[in-house]
Amino acid sequence: MHVAALSGLMDVVAAQPDPSIQLTSRAALQLRGLPDPLTPWIRDAIRATGLVPSATHELVRNVVASPLSGLDDAGQCDLRPVVRDLDAALCADPGLAQLGGRFLFVLDDGRGDVIRESFDLGLFATEPGRCLVLAGGLTRGWEAPLDDAVPLILSLAREFVSRSAGDESVWHVKELAPPIGPEPATAITLRSAPERPLGRVGDHAVVAVPLGLLRPEHVAALTQVTDRVIVTPWRSLVVEDGARALPPLEAAGLVTHAGSPWTRLHACTGLPGCTRSALDTRALARDLAPSLPAGTLPVHVSGCERRCGTPATAYVDVLAPRSTADALSTIAEQEPPWT
Ligand code: SF4
Repeated sequence: MHVAALSGLMDVVAAQPDPSIQLTSRAALQLRGLPDPLTPWIRDAIRATGLVPSATHELVRNVVASPLSGLDDAGQCDLRPVVRDLDAALCADPGLAQLGGRFLFVLDDGRGDVIRESFDLGLFATEPGRCLVLAGGLTRGWEAPLDDAVPLILSLAREFVSRSAGDESVWHVKELAPPIGPEPATAITLRSAPERPLGRVGDHAVVAVPLGLLRPEHVAALTQVTDRVIVTPWRSLVVEDGARALPPLEAAGLVTHAGSPWTRLHACTGLPGCTRSALDTRALARDLAPSLPAGTLPVHVSGCERRCGTPATAYVDVLAPRSTADALSTIAEQEPPWT
C-alpha cells in the first residue's frame, strides 16, 4: 500500500488525544474512536486513500499473504499478482459479498510463514508455478497450477456460500459436513515455521510497531524514506527498499532489532477505549518497556479477565496490574530471570 494512504488515515484520527492506526493480526488497519455514523468528511477521507475499493465486499476482503513474497528468494514464487487477482475476482462476484467478515483467505508462497493461520481457504506454493489449494486447514488440499488457483479458490468460496446459506451455525469452511470440495484431497507436511523477519531483509526492511499502534511520528518517518509498505499479520511493516533507512525509522520509535522489549510486550485496548478496564493498559506497557527484564515468553498486559488479544502460545499473564512495579513482580513470578 502507499504510505500516502497511511497519512490520509492519520489525518482522520489526528484530532484524537492519542491518534493511532491499529495493525491487526489479519494484516488489516483499524481506526478506533470514530463517530457513529461517520461524518461525510471522514467517509470521503477514507475513500480518498483508495483502501476501500468495494463498499459491498469490504468485510470479506480478508486476505493474508506472505508479506515478503517477491521481495526475497525465500518463497517458491511471487504471490503478489495472485493476491491482486484474487482480490479483484472476489470483488467482482456479487454473491461472494455473503462470505462474512470472519472468513479468511491465506496465501503462502511456500516459506511457511502464514499458512499456520486458522484459515478458511488457502494456497501453499509447492514449487515454481505449482501449489496446493487448501480448504479449512492443512489436511484438505488439491494440487493445481498456480495459474488455476484463483478460479479454484473462488469456486470453493461459492460452494461455501451456497451450502452455508441460511445456517447461522456455520461460520467457517471446516464446519461444513460433508467437507467442501472434490475428492480426493491431500494434506501438506510443513517444516518448522521460519523466524519472523525483523530489520534488514536484502534491500528491504521489516519494522515492528509497538503495541501494533502506528503513530503520527511513525508515518512521518515512513513518508521520508519510502512510498510503499506492506502490512504483515505480525504488527509490523515491510518497508520496500528501506534497508538503508533503518536508523531514522528506529529513531521514530519503530522496532528494528530483536533485542527490543516491544518484540514481546503486548497489551489489550484497556482505558480509554474499553470501559471494562480499570487501567490504561497501553500507557502501563509504555512505562514498563524500558525496565522489562530479558526473557523468552511474550508478556501480555490485560485490563480484565477477558484477556483480549492474548497470544496462542505460552505467555506471561499480567492481569490488571496496580502499577508498573506490580507488573514487574508478576513477570518475575511467571518467568524468573534464569529462564
Ligand atoms: S481484556 Fe478486558 S479490558 Fe482489555 S480490551 Fe478486553 S475486555 Fe477490555
